Amino acid sequence: MSTVPESRIRGVEAARGLTCPQCGEDVYPCHSAESSVFYCRAGHRAGVNDLASIPDEAVRAALGVMLRSWESTLIELATIAADAERRGLFDMAAIYQRQVGHLKDRLRAVRAALWATSPTPASNAPAQKSLSASS
Ligand SMILES: [Zn+2]
Repeated sequence: MSTVPESRIRGVEAARGLTCPQCGEDVYPCHSAESSVFYCRAGHRAGVNDLASIPDEAVRAALGVMLRSWESTLIELATIAADAERRGLFDMAAIYQRQVGHLKDRLRAVRAALWATSPTPASNAPAQKSLSASS
């Protein structure tokens, strides 16, 4: 196991309310195009499925807060993309649309993890269809 270099997590805010399943320390998000992983300072790695499967309502609530924050970011990015397109800035629009697509993928992954581990599945399934990637 390697230690995460300080530079890797400097400037990145700890994921609020989420802690390392192995040592209980704060975790820091690291986003790739289609998914998110979380690292603590000891270098433990946790995916959204690992975090969602922690049987603790506070953890699920924290993931829910993160989802809502991403959803508002998604709306902002989509608004910027649409505005850029309307003004004929197609390169800029494409960049923002790509970010929208990545964020949708990450949102879908977290929703799926929460749903798969939900104590009350099926009836309140998250609306994933509305976010199906179009790009
Ligand atoms: Zn840890």
